[in-house]
Amino acid sequence: MPEYEAIIGLETHIQLNTTTKIFCACKADSWGDPPNSNICPVCTGMPGVLPVLNKAVVEKGVLLAAAMHAAIQKISYFDRKNYFYPDLPKGYQISQYDMPLGRGGILDLPMPDGTVRRVGITKLHIEEDAGKTKNERGRRLIDFNRCGVPLIEMVTEPDLRSADEAAQYLIRLRQLLRWIGISEADMEKAHLRCDANVSIRPKGADYLNPKTEIKNVNSIVAVKEAIEKEIKRQIEETEAGRKIQAWTLEWDEEAGVLRKMRSKETEADYRYFREPDLLPVRLDQTWLEEILAGLPELPLERRSRFMTQYGLPEYDADILTSERTLSDYFEAAVQAYGRDPKRVSNWLMNDVLRMVNEKGNSASELKLTPVYLADIIKLVDSGTVNTSTGKSLLDKVEASGQAPATIVQAEGLAKVSDQEAIRTICAEVLAESPEQVNAYKGGKTTLIGWFVGQVMKKMRGKADPQVAKAVLEELLSR
Ligand SMILES: [Zn+2]
Repeated sequence: MPEYEAIIGLETHIQLNTTTKIFCACKADSWGDPPNSNICPVCTGMPGVLPVLNKAVVEKGVLLAAAMHAAIQKISYFDRKNYFYPDLPKGYQISQYDMPLGRGGILDLPMPDGTVRRVGITKLHIEEDAGKTKNERGRRLIDFNRCGVPLIEMVTEPDLRSADEAAQYLIRLRQLLRWIGISEADMEKAHLRCDANVSIRPKGADYLNPKTEIKNVNSIVAVKEAIEKEIKRQIEETEAGRKIQAWTLEWDEEAGVLRKMRSKETEADYRYFREPDLLPVRLDQTWLEEILAGLPELPLERRSRFMTQYGLPEYDADILTSERTLSDYFEAAVQAYGRDPKRVSNWLMNDVLRMVNEKGNSASELKLTPVYLADIIKLVDSGTVNTSTGKSLLDKVEASGQAPATIVQAEGLAKVSDQEAIRTICAEVLAESPEQVNAYKGGKTTLIGWFVGQVMKKMRGKADPQVAKAVLEELLSR
């Protein structure tokens, strides 16, 4: 039995987070709104209406094209893609066909095993979404809210070789979309939708076999599962001597199985022609430069810079660049701290991230600012407070918004390393605990931790535990 490899290409539909729809003034995001509440004559395709292109759609599309290193086309055209379906009231979808906004491009995926998979982008184009149909009690209901919602369709080359790589592509794409601020990229809310083209061939072969297209997968876990099942099915079919047919398959989320939808349409079935109601999109140099001025350093670039510039391990760099505000927070804290970046990273990943996750906010919304975090680490470094007081300061600063030094002074949290003060308390603790003292002297020396705990309790955590332990051991040895 020959060894097979999978050839996977992904087609993603990305819902842009514009305020209004692509060709009318209706609200774009209808999540949670009643059916047919954000519609007008334009997006429901009434006779005689004319579309007006939303400028923000082009701007967000250009940002994505630039982020994918695609060639941005100075002139692109809209076309009509004709097909009949109840959720498409015009009888055609306004899309871009042979002259799209962006061509080419790449995304380098760092894989968990340390390798990099380069994924080529074939093209990306602007289009409008269609409505939604659903079957209920034997009737077919139509919701036009999604009609005219702006989308970018982006198609990859068949460069992915496993279900894991396909999942990584979606994870990195989602991160990028949020990072550059053009989409919420929430797959559960259909902001990011994915169709996968899958075929197999003997490993090392350079030809392509017929592929199937998997539709309707709405989570990254489901994409991975559906692709894995399809690869397995194709191998079994091929091994049994049967040919793979170019089917369109639908993923049934509940049953966890793929079902055949129809034989795939060819592009000729859509009878594309230029949209006569819209002008070409012309990007002059000034506008293009204006848009591109808003393009931040990209997540994967920042990730590798964090490793080289700050000497962070890949693990840290990956987490710290998972979200843009978090990575900004880290850099601001490193700057304020002015010493070892890895130390800032440890505090951030262990404690600050917990606070961000608990609150469900982004790092930029914390009252514990990067400067305050740096202050706290410095207070611990200088020995003014011990580590556990330092950690408790994180929550105190977050709750009050006060500077760490102010809280230390107001609450008298500064560490007591004065031997005499600690000695007095240690003696008190031993005098109050004759049973434990006897047990210790009888050989149960692990009780030392308990004694230190009692001292820390009496001194409200301010004692230097190392000093307390040494004093206690000395007193107990008498
Ligand atoms: Zn409308």
